[in-house]
Amino acid sequence: MSLNEAVAERLHEMSKLLELLGENQFKAIAHSRAARVLESLPNPVENMDKAALTALDGIGDKIADKILEYCASAAKGKPRIFEHEQMLKAVPPGLLDILDIPGLGPKTVRAMWQDLGITDTTSLKKAIDSGSLLKLPRMGEKAVEKIKSGLALGEEATRRIHLGLAYPMALRIAEELRSVEGVERVEVAGSLRRGRETIADIDLLVMVRDFEGVAPKLRSAKSPAPKATGENPAKPAPAKAKSEDAPHPVIEAFCSLPDVRQVISKGPTRASVRAVINLHSGRWKGGGPDEHPKEPTMQVDVRVIPERSFGAALMYFTGSKDHNVVLRQRALAQQQTLNEYGLFPEDENQTPPQDRGIRPVASKTEAEIYKALGLPYIPPELREFPADIANIEKLGKAPALIELADIKCDLHAHTTDSDGRMSMRELVENAIKRGFHTIAVTDHSKSSAIANGLSPERLRAQIKAVHNLNKALKAEGLDIRVLAGSEVDILSDGTMDFDDDLLAELDIVVASPHAALSQDPATATKRLLKAIAHPHVHIIGHPTGRLINRRAGLDPAMDELIAAAKEHNTALEINAHWMRLDLRDIHVRAATAAGALIAIDCDDHETSDFENLRFGISTARRGLLTPELCINAWPREKLLKWLKSKR
Ligand SMILES: [Zn+2]
Ligand SMILES: [Zn+2]
Repeated sequence: MSLNEAVAERLHEMSKLLELLGENQFKAIAHSRAARVLESLPNPVENMDKAALTALDGIGDKIADKILEYCASAAKGKPRIFEHEQMLKAVPPGLLDILDIPGLGPKTVRAMWQDLGITDTTSLKKAIDSGSLLKLPRMGEKAVEKIKSGLALGEEATRRIHLGLAYPMALRIAEELRSVEGVERVEVAGSLRRGRETIADIDLLVMVRDFEGVAPKLRSAKSPAPKATGENPAKPAPAKAKSEDAPHPVIEAFCSLPDVRQVISKGPTRASVRAVINLHSGRWKGGGPDEHPKEPTMQVDVRVIPERSFGAALMYFTGSKDHNVVLRQRALAQQQTLNEYGLFPEDENQTPPQDRGIRPVASKTEAEIYKALGLPYIPPELREFPADIANIEKLGKAPALIELADIKCDLHAHTTDSDGRMSMRELVENAIKRGFHTIAVTDHSKSSAIANGLSPERLRAQIKAVHNLNKALKAEGLDIRVLAGSEVDILSDGTMDFDDDLLAELDIVVASPHAALSQDPATATKRLLKAIAHPHVHIIGHPTGRLINRRAGLDPAMDELIAAAKEHNTALEINAHWMRLDLRDIHVRAATAAGALIAIDCDDHETSDFENLRFGISTARRGLLTPELCINAWPREKLLKWLKSKR
């Protein structure tokens, strides 16, 4: 963490503490404002003097002193702000956890503390259970329900990690393991391979060359017997000796990776550890300090698997559990046994077949196991939904789900004109790098003041700039089209944040809800239906506005929205950012079934956001989306024709 971030974190906390202490609200706001100024400061704060600090918009005299105090004490190795320490002494630390519960403001939390003696989430739960929370002013049954669901979300956040944080971590560890001598292949299994939006732990399977040769003593009673080599067919593994417990070199290498903080268990061919999650430093800070402990870790399991049973292990450890249950039952109905070592002929013997030298019917690849079970290959993303097995069997093959390579454009992106970090030119260069034929510039509209939304005048100037950029790109011989667009706020009553005549001047309109996200379902449905039916709107951006583990968002009647989207030829977005993934998989399923159009966009604010596309794709695949219904997979001419049909 940079010093800028460290001071900002302190100031944010001071702001919360001030509110909990019932101090002047403006003082609290000033602290969080100064914190945000520091977060977006490109230069190291330790290089600044008081004059430079107070010259920044949003940092006053007193707060500048506190920043200087922190920097000076940090230089001596003991970073502190005296006032911050005093405040921490006056407030029970558990109150800050309560303040982090989505939907709870400082006034309410202060009342809980002062009137009911609630000091942490445990005493809050007690007050909910006993009903004493209802004694607070303006605290009704509904509000209590909200707090309860907020508490559940908070606990979820500590248990399950965002897909976008677990994925790069798994890739990094897999890469490290690939460099270990004798490793042939490393695969991610588990919920990460199925593309779930949150991940409890990371499962990695390692295939090694010469499984028995590298570590001849690795065979335990449980591991598969070696393949018969022409001499004696393999016998059951020998009795366990102490040296058998010596871990495989891959396991030793894994447990000594620099990111590993704790080895939970270590055996000859498997280990479980807790390893550090690298939080993102950009927008949302990857779940941020309010959602994770200081150095967040997550569990990573590694198993060493011989080539001959790799497919069976990959299938077994990919899950889902429900999927595996259906497959095992199917195997039994065919007089076969399916386990993590392979698909074997069923017999009456109590000892597992792999321990008796029985040759599996299939075990090397997943495809051959599915085939032996009389099934088409089932993509990992669909293994979450056991009912898909029967449907795919009926079809004879899995639907041709959309892939990363199918995406040819991004239709939702921000520039420095609103809250993005890329200039329009940088945005275009990123799109070219990815082989896109089109990129849309969709900055925020005027009501999104915090995001520096554009006024009609600024938007008109931007439209001109886009036209000029297109001319310049053409002159340079670059085959990319920039669309002049806007991410227009859908106001709480469903009207658009810009007039119709301005919207008509744009090539593309993404309409998104940003405020009033706790509306009741009926109002939210009406609001979104109005936006879908608007003649100039092409795409509904992040339709519910949810943030995973943080904010529930709108809860509209999705079937009505989907029917309207189909009727009005409006696309519904899968926002690919891993904090959003909105639409979610089940909504995409409903939309796909109804034949509604889907957009998969990265909502790019910075270069790294383009990488999130894979998470949008995994959500789309879980939703059974094929390229035909995805406007981002269309050729340019088809896309432009569709855009024009709304003009
Ligand atoms: Zn948005
Ligand atoms: Zn956006």
